[in-house]
Amino acid sequence: MLIWFAVMGGYVSQLRARLQHTNNELKEALGRIELIATMDELTGLMNRRTIHEALHLERRRSERTEQPMCVAMVDADHFKAVNDQFGHASGDEVLKGLADAMRSALRETDSVGRYGGEEFLVVLPMTDLGQALVPLERIRCAAAAVRYAMLPAEARVTVSIGVAQSFPDEDIDETVKRADAAVYEAKRGGRNRIVSAGAVKASLPPAPGGGVSRG
Ligand code: GH3
Ligand code: MG
Ligand code: MG
Repeated sequence: MLIWFAVMGGYVSQLRARLQHTNNELKEALGRIELIATMDELTGLMNRRTIHEALHLERRRSERTEQPMCVAMVDADHFKAVNDQFGHASGDEVLKGLADAMRSALRETDSVGRYGGEEFLVVLPMTDLGQALVPLERIRCAAAAVRYAMLPAEARVTVSIGVAQSFPDEDIDETVKRADAAVYEAKRGGRNRIVSAGAVKASLPPAPGGGVSRG
């Protein structure tokens, strides 16, 4: 009997250890799957679906707390020319560089994700239009300063930014559309600049040095 118990005891503890190991492997795999599902592979930023979720979450929070929030669309300038002149791998390096610049220019409570090819969406909670210009100007300057190993030493890639403050009665997807329209204004205005979307509720500071203007 004693021998039987000893053998069974050993067998059960072996089984338990194996189960624990399988459990850990499963947890790791789930973590990897979650990362793949939520992250943009190239830049490590949130992917489109995840930034969209963050956008809607912040919108609900903003409604509840009656705090302002802003969304900004950031679009790389003349990015196609980078691909065309220096190759797709160089373009990818630029996207990574811009992503890093944006990450370090924002606060932890802000969110940034890759929205499309060379377009990024920034969500700024508890921020009105005037306040949004501060981190966005930081992004604009940081982007314009990034150097790329695969590009000629003097080459820089700037960004055009459109920003809109969310209105209480406005669908947040409409706010994104206004930010997107403001990007086109920024492109038309000469690129490497920030344009605030119209129908502004908050007061805006005067546009300094052509870098920031009102759409
Ligand atoms: P604009 O200043 O008006 O925004 O011009 P642009 O050249 O940046 O814009 P356009 O829309 O003409 O070109 C965007 C390019 O981005 C075209 C597409 O091939 C490229 N692109 C999209 N996704 C990726 C990617 O993941 N990697 C690379 N290398 N290129 C990409
Ligand atoms: Mg674009
Ligand atoms: Mg572009």
